[in-house]
Amino acid sequence: MIGAILVLSGPSGAGKSTIIKESSDNIGSYYFSISTTTRKPRDGEVDGVDYYFVSKDSFEEDIKAGNFLEYATVHNNYYGTSLIPVQKALNNGKLVIFDIDIQGHRLIRAKLGDITTSAFITPPSIDELDYRLNIRRTDDKDIISQRMDNAKKEIEAIHEYDYVIINDDIKTASEEFTLIANVSILKQSRAELNDFIIHWLKTTKN
Ligand code: ADP
Ligand code: 5GP
Repeated sequence: MIGAILVLSGPSGAGKSTIIKESSDNIGSYYFSISTTTRKPRDGEVDGVDYYFVSKDSFEEDIKAGNFLEYATVHNNYYGTSLIPVQKALNNGKLVIFDIDIQGHRLIRAKLGDITTSAFITPPSIDELDYRLNIRRTDDKDIISQRMDNAKKEIEAIHEYDYVIINDDIKTASEEFTLIANVSILKQSRAELNDFIIHWLKTTKN
């Protein structure tokens, strides 16, 4: 594998999708990992673009078949990252960007920590998060309340991340994200470094 990984986490409504969209033209060769979920599509979400929307049975078959690099239950729905497209993108030397929760981040770190960089995105305050979830108008009151409860737990994991982006002003947050993404791609895997050492030692004339 020769690519690298950038994991983005943060409460639902923090602005992760907005920041990725804002920054996409300024990031080098990257692949955005499209997750699979059992959650229902929101208005405007497109199957195969925002997520692969599947049934619980289909998701559980994929778990059994070992098709996920990682998966987790978030807000009572399954969310997972399919292994094959990620492997393909890494083999093509791309930066693979994940928008996954804190459980997914821990699993990716455990499996592919040497090529992983991570950033936690949050609005400046819990009130602002509440406001953004409400103005997005994609979720009912009880779903928003569940997301707010989850956000209080997620923020406790902020120390586990390499970088924190406070998404107050979208332009500043996107610039910070662009910098982080363009540096993440430079991470070398342990295997690549070992090959480099072997090659480096062979270059001596003595
Ligand atoms: P996430 O992908 O993290 O769930 P979204 O990107 O959908 O979050 O953003 C949630 C809502 O907040 C959207 O309505 C978006 O337009 C708005 N938003 C994102 N960033 C900002 C910002 N810096 N200032 C104000 N509103 C924002
Ligand atoms: P949403 O329903 O708002 O799109 O996403 C809810 C949460 O699930 C967010 O924190 C998002 O980062 C996370 N998530 C999305 N896809 C995945 C995935 O494939 N794996 C994991 N572990 N979390 C995911």
